[in-house]
Amino acid sequence: MDAVIFGGMAALANVMGGLWVTWPRLIARRSLLSYPLALGAGFLLAAVFLKVLPTSLDLDPWRGRSTPPLILVLAGYLLIQLFEHTVAPHFHFGEETHAEALSGRHVVWAAVGGVALHAFFDGVAIAAGFHVEHRLGVLLFIAILLHKLPEGFTVASIVLASGRSRRAARWASAAVAVATLVGVLLVSVARGAIPYAFPLSAGVTLYVAASDLIPEINRETRSASSLVVFLGVALYYMTEKMLEAFGL
Ligand SMILES: [Zn+2]
Ligand SMILES: [Zn+2]
Repeated sequence: MDAVIFGGMAALANVMGGLWVTWPRLIARRSLLSYPLALGAGFLLAAVFLKVLPTSLDLDPWRGRSTPPLILVLAGYLLIQLFEHTVAPHFHFGEETHAEALSGRHVVWAAVGGVALHAFFDGVAIAAGFHVEHRLGVLLFIAILLHKLPEGFTVASIVLASGRSRRAARWASAAVAVATLVGVLLVSVARGAIPYAFPLSAGVTLYVAASDLIPEINRETRSASSLVVFLGVALYYMTEKMLEAFGL
């Protein structure tokens, strides 16, 4: 039940990101967006290395056999490389402004589809986290939530930049939210798949943090955004300690 509630909140952030970018009058989108993006990247990286990977290796069929789950981690990483950047010819996080790169009809939907696939694994990670251990679920929810608003924002801005309507842009961010929920629900129903789905989602999460979010932060000319990545790692540490202290 917790998995559905928290997964639903993460999905809602996608919708809000879509509403934000499609709102008629808006100020300073880009600079406002780079901080949650950087905070999310640091938090996600810490969560992947310190919690998701060790937990994946310790799941029931894998204990003492690290190769199969690590192959799944690599597969998850490459899956997103394939769908966000090979099948989709143009995708990057943040506000999309390259109308010329989106001229082909399928370019936009390939990019939206790539994000939807990664969002599906956002949902898988949250739900699998809750089924393994409640605290792990809460940590993963926070880690993933931090990039959900920029994610909805990114998808809606891709659709807008291609010259489509605000309505279409909002629908695209809603579709990504639905993909997240599908991930949550599938794992909640098919718990036997968790030992496979969780390491796969670890690879996806690693990709999102290190190969989607970090490059976007590094394009910024201010080093302040990069500094926020380290704050994200510190925030992870504090969050973990707090969850522990409150016995959550
Ligand atoms: Zn672009
Ligand atoms: Zn995501």
